[in-house]
Amino acid sequence: MEIAIIGAGASGLFLTKLLSRRKDCRVTVFEKAEKVGSKIKASGGGKANLLHDGITPECYNHPEFMRQILAKCDDRRIRELWESFGLLLRTDEEGRIYPWSEFSQTVLDTLLDDLPGSVTIRCGTEVFKLQPESGKWRVNDGPALFDRVVLCSGSPAGMIARNRQGYNRYIETIPLPMTPLAPSLVGFKIRNCPRKLEGCRAKAEVRLMQGARGLFRETGEITFKEDGLSGIVILNASAIYNRLGQPQDCHLLLDFMYGQPGWSLREHLKQHRDLCGVLHPKLNALYRRQPFDPKRFRLDIEGTYGWEGAQVCHGGIPISCVDEHLAIKGFPGLYAAGELLDIDGVCGGYNLFFACACADIIARNI
Ligand SMILES: Cc1cc2nc3c(=O)[nH]c(=O)nc-3n(C[C@H](O)[C@H](O)[C@H](O)COP(=O)(O)OP(=O)(O)OC[C@H]3O[C@@H](n4cnc5c(N)ncnc54)[C@H](O)[C@@H]3O)c2cc1C
Repeated sequence: MEIAIIGAGASGLFLTKLLSRRKDCRVTVFEKAEKVGSKIKASGGGKANLLHDGITPECYNHPEFMRQILAKCDDRRIRELWESFGLLLRTDEEGRIYPWSEFSQTVLDTLLDDLPGSVTIRCGTEVFKLQPESGKWRVNDGPALFDRVVLCSGSPAGMIARNRQGYNRYIETIPLPMTPLAPSLVGFKIRNCPRKLEGCRAKAEVRLMQGARGLFRETGEITFKEDGLSGIVILNASAIYNRLGQPQDCHLLLDFMYGQPGWSLREHLKQHRDLCGVLHPKLNALYRRQPFDPKRFRLDIEGTYGWEGAQVCHGGIPISCVDEHLAIKGFPGLYAAGELLDIDGVCGGYNLFFACACADIIARNI
């Protein structure tokens, strides 16, 4: 069977590795970049947070769809597959799973190690057209016809404007619909961000509010930027904000004193002049200029940072277009995997897991 894979990223390379074990498959991978797996290399700050212990459907924008996916392939299965490729893993205290080396290049090396002659990876080859012909598929007017084509071309998240131009335009030649795309897992731009806090890192309980309604609550480290905020907890809040269509009237409430229920600002100030023994020095300096309640520090959201700072994309091929095996309905022989689909998960290994789970499900169906 001749198989074409479009995109040598996480889902495309994981699928390639799985299919390379099969005697009945010849695989051609088309990759538009000169090198494969650039997002795998960049992931997890260069450490590649590959998956998470105990992945649940609620961590994604379409939990019902993810329930079906997880019934076929859960985190234990993906862990076993990585280990079967020879990649040793380690889990941190928060359940995030990394390669033992804590070096993303190890992941890429494992995927590319010892691929047989039945696999060809064609870098520098952008797919711009897919056409059905005699029950098979032709890629870019090339000479070969493929029995199966797997779309693994990801999203424009994390890319500069030049590289985003015309991203996934070949999808229109099939043609398939796409839901609107928005950068997700991305920092917030803050309307009233105190500039002097730039560079300050602090742990806080973060609440995303729309008026008086709480939309999200999580604890973690935040980093103040010149005009906004980032950090894992902030990226996760942005996923919820995007799912709701970026409402205008949202703000964040930060509680720097979470886990200290007995602490009271009023009592503290009876004995101390300011919050110098309590908060980060930049926060205390701000407090001295402009006193605030460290349990309810309010920041008004202006929007999110753009595509360049985003880890994933919200939107893509609608999940109604694929069946439970990720075969595209109405287009025999075509499958879609990974971030190209309208699925995005929170931070912590959920998106690389999804890319690999898609690859596993498709490999078993092919
Ligand atoms: C900075 C950063 C850090 C991240 N960290 C993590 C993390 O730690 N944990 C986690 O779970 N997720 C993380 N993510 C998200 C994760 O990397 C992606 O969700 C995942 O890589 C998606 O896999 P994919 O196979 O769908 O797409 P990709 O990995 O993006 O691969 C798509 C490939 O297709 C190629 N391509 C595109 N169009 C064409 C075409 N027309 N023809 C040929 N080739 C094409 C692209 O060049 C690319 O190589 C991070 C993302 C970024 C940007």
